[in-house]
Amino acid sequence: MTPSGGTNSTSTEASNAAAASFASLLAKLDYLGTEGKELVRKAYRFSDHAHLGQKRQSGEPYITHPIAVAAQCAEWKLDSQALMAALLHDAMEDCGISKEDLIQEFGAPVAEMVDGLTKLDKLQFDTQEEGQAESFRKMLLAMAKDVRVILVKLADRSHNMRTMGSMPTSKWARICNETLEIYAPIAHRLGLNQTYRELQDLSFRHLKPWRYQIIEKAVGKARSRRRDILIKVQKDVEQAFAKHSIPIRIYGREKTLFSIYKKMDTKNLSFAQVTDIYGMRVILPSVIECYTALGVLHQLYKPVPGRFKDHIAIAKVNGYQSIHTTLVGPAGINIEFQLRTEAMHVVAESGVASHWLYKTQDHTSETSERLGTQWLQSLVDIQNETHDATEFWDYVKVDLFPDAVYVFTPKSKIMALPRGATVVDFAYAVHSNIGDRTMAGKINGESVPLRTELKNGDVVEIVTSTVAAPNPAWLAYVKTGRARSKIRHFLKTQAQTESLGLGEKLLAQAVRAEGIDQMPTDEPKYKPLWERLLRFTGNHSKEDLLVDIGLGKRIATIVAKRIVLLLSELGEKPDALLISKERFTAHESVSQGGVMVDGSENVSIQYALCCRPIPGDSILGYLGRGEGLVVHTENCSVGQKLKHKDSERFIAVEWADEVVRAFESELVVTVQNGKGVLARVAAAIASAEADITHVNMSEEFSGQAAIDLRFTIAIRDTTHLDTVLKHLRRLPSVSQAHRVVSAKSTSH
Ligand code: MN
Repeated sequence: MTPSGGTNSTSTEASNAAAASFASLLAKLDYLGTEGKELVRKAYRFSDHAHLGQKRQSGEPYITHPIAVAAQCAEWKLDSQALMAALLHDAMEDCGISKEDLIQEFGAPVAEMVDGLTKLDKLQFDTQEEGQAESFRKMLLAMAKDVRVILVKLADRSHNMRTMGSMPTSKWARICNETLEIYAPIAHRLGLNQTYRELQDLSFRHLKPWRYQIIEKAVGKARSRRRDILIKVQKDVEQAFAKHSIPIRIYGREKTLFSIYKKMDTKNLSFAQVTDIYGMRVILPSVIECYTALGVLHQLYKPVPGRFKDHIAIAKVNGYQSIHTTLVGPAGINIEFQLRTEAMHVVAESGVASHWLYKTQDHTSETSERLGTQWLQSLVDIQNETHDATEFWDYVKVDLFPDAVYVFTPKSKIMALPRGATVVDFAYAVHSNIGDRTMAGKINGESVPLRTELKNGDVVEIVTSTVAAPNPAWLAYVKTGRARSKIRHFLKTQAQTESLGLGEKLLAQAVRAEGIDQMPTDEPKYKPLWERLLRFTGNHSKEDLLVDIGLGKRIATIVAKRIVLLLSELGEKPDALLISKERFTAHESVSQGGVMVDGSENVSIQYALCCRPIPGDSILGYLGRGEGLVVHTENCSVGQKLKHKDSERFIAVEWADEVVRAFESELVVTVQNGKGVLARVAAAIASAEADITHVNMSEEFSGQAAIDLRFTIAIRDTTHLDTVLKHLRRLPSVSQAHRVVSAKSTSH
């Protein structure tokens, strides 16, 4: 879109007002230079045009709001990009302007900031739940990729709070609570104390108008009663410093109404009992003089014991530095003094933003030395090295809180997870029962793969099912220790049960092959037999032994032979007919005792990746040592080699009639290269009702005449695979299509 001059005949008066407020903004922008000012002007024209005809609740043209936000940012001496973002901050949401539009007009950094601001705008804090405010604040900070986004956001909130009067009163409580719980603490954390105090007072005023008025009146009265005293104190102090030839600036300082209210409320005090309403702030030329000043003041008035704090030597975490002491002034009133240097004063009032204030001033090495606090000093160093606000912010964030993402449950509860956490981690964080029964996940209402990494502000929903169970594949991508240990625990229990079942089958099969129709039972007469058998194998229990057999740690035929031996001592002889029958059928691999596989197995039975057996293939089972049963196709070369080496570990397996899941098969499709060939091949696979799970093609896709496409597809069985291949071979551009029988994989 092309913005016009910004004037509109229908409301000339309104646009004049807007133009006037923009003119007063421009007057503050000399620090940006001509070029910067021109960029800001361009953003203003664009925004003015975009918001044309829109009004604030107060009836003023909408553009006055972005201008006011930009003006606050100019107070902080933010750069031209931040000011442009301030002017445009509501344009995406309210005027249907896209991020692409903004990139084209103003470049990516400004567009990113506006986009970030738009996203923050959509987050609303509206819960009374304990501990949620802290998480919400962190989420907000984590979402802002750039500290400037937070600063513009705070300026935006400040202006909205100042103009709260024209908002419908029904919205006051929510907005004021959000400001008190979220934005004021962020301002405080970033050291923007002026903004912090203002946000608190404005919230208090609208949340509790009655209390506010009472305290306001009381403060006014006390002020006029004590005016003479305060003037006297200021004079005494100025004289004392003049005597020591220390140049100072001194201000009277009053506690904010909100902090008086807070103190009365939390400490259960009456207004009269709040003694530190008045204070003086003394600005000194250097750090050493701050300490000298302390001596001067303590000579002048008596200090109140226990009220002295040296925040110069030990700065607060947000970078604040000052010496605090409370003195007993004339007429016995307590007055708190704050002593600081000019540099500390700037940091105390505007925190992180003071870093821009300094950057734009001609700052000598002495100034940065006086900045003093390690935290801010290191920020300035980083900024000087990188000149990149994003990197700068990353650094600030590291300092502010650990690596985490903050997401919502469908019920708007906030969960904190380590960065990189997936849908599965979330499920286990909610509850291990949810994790164990996770079937699918949704983020912001859309279905996503379970391995999807979570982003700040995502609303995550877990679809559970009673038949769902943890998958070993989850272990490859879960991030949290909690999820990992819960999945492992489940799989171990599961593996135990499965291996036990498999071991029981294998042993029964082996015992039959030795001519014994029935395994010895748990009847008392077989008790000594089992005891001797377990002594022989070294297992603690029958279950333990069966699990070992199922896992391939112990060979069923050897155990079976020992059982036959022990039975013969009890006088039970093997049945010769059964032996020959079982031996014969076992060789033919059609034994009724063969292990049936249907894909529902979880851990104890694996399907070899070298040959990827699918239902319909002739298969063999190999009992790996300690890893359970691995199923290979009968003609798999890897399987054949193992069989040669380790024949007693091979057992008969068969596909069950009903297979419960799809199996993956790998295909190589040789195609004549041409436009859209990949799409046509994919469509042919889809038309045969097979899902593509992975595609791989040679890198020189565009250069060659004939190329190989490798697909991994999910199919039901060999018949289904044949159908897929038939569909593929029908395509004119396909010269060959076949199943990959043995990939280069080294696993069995
Ligand atoms: Mn706004």
